[in-house]
Amino acid sequence: MSLRVGIGSDVHAFATGVPLHVAGLHFPDEPAGLAGHSDGDVACHAAVDALLSAAGLGDIGSRFGTADPAWAGAPGVAFLAETVRLLDEAGFTVVNLAIQVIGNRPKLAPRRAEAEAVLTAAVGAPVSVSGTTTDGLGLTGRGEGVAAIATALIAVR
Ligand code: MG
Repeated sequence: MSLRVGIGSDVHAFATGVPLHVAGLHFPDEPAGLAGHSDGDVACHAAVDALLSAAGLGDIGSRFGTADPAWAGAPGVAFLAETVRLLDEAGFTVVNLAIQVIGNRPKLAPRRAEAEAVLTAAVGAPVSVSGTTTDGLGLTGRGEGVAAIATALIAVR
């Protein structure tokens, strides 16, 4: 089996007055969401870039441009599902995805299993979600936004 690895990352700033979506979940008790053309789900966006990177299919900006109204406000899982379809079309199967969310909020640990179930269903392969903070340093430490990094492993059919 021929395997390929890919990397992805994303950052979105907090914005008041919008719902918070991270790792395919809605966090209704959070005071701020993430700014963006879509729902700002950094975890999904990093995962999309990791998958496209592994397949050599470009990046999220070139595939789902902000000029395309079809993706305005789109949920992160919709980007993920469409990306898996693009990879499938190009002859790739997803082996697994690992996503790390970096930020002070939301607290992912209590809902980690739920996030992994939602994302695994969207991708059709195991997705792991972990969380970390930056000890108060940088944009995530100052609470200005949320970042995510992802690694994808895919197989050439
Ligand atoms: Mg993004």
